[in-house]
Amino acid sequence: RTKEQGRNHYQFYSPNLTDESSLLLRIESLLHQAIEKKQFYLHYQPQISLATGKIVGMEALLRWQHPSLGVIPPQKFIPLAEKTDLMLHINKWVLKTACAQNRSWQKDGLPSIPIAVNLCSREFQQPNLAEIVARVLDETALDPQWLELEVTELTLRQHLNLARKTLKDLQNLGVRIALDDFGRGFSSLGYLKQFSFRTLKIDQEFIRDFRGTSEEMGLISAVLAIGRGFNIRVVAEGVETPEQLQLLREIDCQEVQGYLFSYPLSAKEATEFLGKMAREP
Ligand code: C2E
Ligand code: MG
Ligand code: MG
Ligand code: MG
Repeated sequence: RTKEQGRNHYQFYSPNLTDESSLLLRIESLLHQAIEKKQFYLHYQPQISLATGKIVGMEALLRWQHPSLGVIPPQKFIPLAEKTDLMLHINKWVLKTACAQNRSWQKDGLPSIPIAVNLCSREFQQPNLAEIVARVLDETALDPQWLELEVTELTLRQHLNLARKTLKDLQNLGVRIALDDFGRGFSSLGYLKQFSFRTLKIDQEFIRDFRGTSEEMGLISAVLAIGRGFNIRVVAEGVETPEQLQLLREIDCQEVQGYLFSYPLSAKEATEFLGKMAREP
C-alpha cells in the first residue's frame, strides 16, 4: 500500500482504531501479566443426570482474579483475548489444567466423568489443534474418552472447512465433541448431520424464560427429540428454579447443568462434590 492510501485509511478510521487498539494493547499487557502471575484459575460446574441424580460431567470455566480489578468474568475478557494470540496460550493452559484435574480425580478413586473444556474460535485457526490436544492428553495421562470439547455454531461457521477436518481428527483421537449454546444462532440441522456430536447443550436463554407455554414446551421437546434421533445426549443449561426443572422433567429431559444443582465450584469444592456423589448410593 502506498503512503497516500495509508494516510487516507488512517484518517478515515482514526478515532475508532486508536481507541480500540490502545484498549487492546492494555488488555493484552494485563493478560500477559495474568499468565505470568498465575491469576487464572478454573471453576467446575457439575452436569447432573435427572434419572439417577448422579454427576455425569463437569464443565471447566475460566476465571481471572486480578489483584485490583477483582474477578473478571470470562465474557468480559475472552472476546478481547480472542483478538490476540494470547487466547491460544490461555486456552492451552485451561485444557491442560482441566485434564490434569480430571486425571487427579481418577487417581484419587473418584468416579470417572468427562471434563468439558470450551474451545474458542481462534483455536480452530490452528490446523494442528488435534495434535495439541493429543499432546496434552499424553502429558496429563488422561484417557481421551474423559475429555469433551465444547464448540459453538459460530466457531464452526467461521472455520467450516478447517473445523470439519479438525473435529474429525479430534474424534479419531477418541475425544468427545459437544455443541454448546444450541439454539442461540441459526441452529443449522445440517451441522448435526455433518459432525457427530456426542452432546448438545441447549442454550440458557431458552431455559431462563421457560414458563411452560405450549410453544416453549414444543420447542424444547423438539430439541430433545433431535437428540434422541441422532443419538446425542442433550444437556439443558442454566436450570435455576424447581419450576424449570419440573417442566424439563415433564418433557423427559435427561441431563441438566445449572445453579439449581450447583454453581461453578472451586477445584476443592468440586472434589468434595464428586466425593459426596461417590459415597451416596
Ligand atoms: P458457556 O460455555 O455456555 O458456559 C456456561 C455459562 O453459564 C457459565 O458462565 C456458567 O457459570 C453459567 N451458568 C451455569 N449455570 C447457570 C444458571 O443456572 N444460571 C445462569 N444465569 N448462568 C449459569 P461463565 O463461567 O461466566 O462463562 C461464560 C462463557 O465464557 C461460557 O459460556 C464460555 O462460552 C466462555 N468460557 C468460559 N470459560 C472458558 C474457557 O476456558 N475457554 C473459552 N474459550 N471460553 C470460556
Ligand atoms: Mg460451555
Ligand atoms: Mg453454553
Ligand atoms: Mg458459550
